[in-house]
Amino acid sequence: MINPRSIGVRLTGWYLLILLLGLGTFGLSSWFAIRASVFHALDDELLDRVRGVQKFMQLQIASLSPNEIRDEFREHSVLGPGGDLFQVCDATGVWLYRSAVLENSQTTIRLPSELSDAAVFEHRTVQDTPVRFATQKVIVNGRAYSIQVAAPMKEFFEAMHRFGVALWLIVPLLIAGAVIGGFWISRRALRPVDEITLAAESISVSNLTRRLDVSASGDELQRLAETMNRMLGRLDSAFQKMSQFTADASHELRAPISVILATSEMAASGGRTLAELQEDMVQIKGEAERTKRLIDSLLLLARADAGEDRLQMEPTNLSALVTQVIVQVRRAWPERAIVFDSQAPVTVSGDPDGLRRLVFILLDNAIKYSAPAGLVQVALVNRDGQAECTVGDTGMGIAPEHLDHVFDRFWRADRVRSRGTGGAGLGLSIARWIVDRHHGTISVQSKVGEGTAFTITLPTLRVSEEIP
Ligand code: ADP
Repeated sequence: MINPRSIGVRLTGWYLLILLLGLGTFGLSSWFAIRASVFHALDDELLDRVRGVQKFMQLQIASLSPNEIRDEFREHSVLGPGGDLFQVCDATGVWLYRSAVLENSQTTIRLPSELSDAAVFEHRTVQDTPVRFATQKVIVNGRAYSIQVAAPMKEFFEAMHRFGVALWLIVPLLIAGAVIGGFWISRRALRPVDEITLAAESISVSNLTRRLDVSASGDELQRLAETMNRMLGRLDSAFQKMSQFTADASHELRAPISVILATSEMAASGGRTLAELQEDMVQIKGEAERTKRLIDSLLLLARADAGEDRLQMEPTNLSALVTQVIVQVRRAWPERAIVFDSQAPVTVSGDPDGLRRLVFILLDNAIKYSAPAGLVQVALVNRDGQAECTVGDTGMGIAPEHLDHVFDRFWRADRVRSRGTGGAGLGLSIARWIVDRHHGTISVQSKVGEGTAFTITLPTLRVSEEIP
């Protein structure tokens, strides 16, 4: 069934309207143009005849009597085409000459006093025939006369009528042909859109790997199919990432909960000494804390993905903030050597909690993935309007093939070892997200066995924007 709102029908409608206007304008203008040009030629001819009669009168009127003039007129009149249609009168309305047809039909004439210098053209019907008249005042030998000449218009009107009928027949035929042709062409041109629609409808979450057929037509529809395929590709990879994230998250949550379950079952089974029970409780508490940390990280990333983070940007003294985090880390690992090298205060626009978390993640990793005797070095400089903070360690390092993955969610070089240190592989993904939200960059350089350095850069505030 034809949908009246389809592009094909609408295009055909517009096409029809434009064609109607175009052909209508063409028909009307050509009809009027032909009419005007015929009248123009006819009027020229009538004026020629007026001038002929006037010339004749100038030559003859002084020397001939009225009867002779009449005879001369009669003789003269039969010479020209339509020449028997003319009449002449003087200022008092006395006829000098009247051709038989005009006399029989009692055709009136304007007196010289009713005429200006220009000829008057008019249509009248003489003996049921349309006739065009030209009447002009002429002065011959000081006396005014009215000369009226006429030409029958029957054939002209019949020709115009035939032209009009032809237009009325041809225009609807042209329009019908153009509408049918236009509709067929637009349907044909838009058929691939139907195919794309059907194919797109058949794609759902369960078959996101399917792609639309792309015809190498080089037109807009090829571009549309390619764009939709690219969009499907992005959706597919986002969906796969989401599924992977859910699977990883469930897996990470299962481990501590299994430990909690097993330990609590053991504690509840009876036969445990008080010391053993206390040990069980400590282990349960540790796993519960791990689970809480994991859930906090998952929640933060989920909010970040949904664009609902709670970061509040404000001028922040990064040097003071890094110092605070170092103090906090030293309290947790008093035996570890941490060196902080900072230039003059560096101020950035940032969320203090987010930035604290960022620096903590890097310091925590530097300590976790290096030997207790290792050195952790933190440096903060202001380089070309960028705050550059480097956290380096002398630890185990990261293999070159792993460097691309360190910021991936749940990625860990060594799952077993990392679980022992309490990480789920989300720290660096959170760090990268915080850096992105601050319009900064984060990069890593590492050598296996020698150490790792993470560098973050954040745009600094100009002096005028700094903390008052
Ligand atoms: P985790 O919670 O496991 O520390 P991260 O996302 O912070 O998760 O780090 C991901 C992985 O990157 C770590 O498991 C570790 O293998 C590696 N990594 C991160 N920081 C360092 C570092 N300073 N030295 C060596 N390896 C590191």
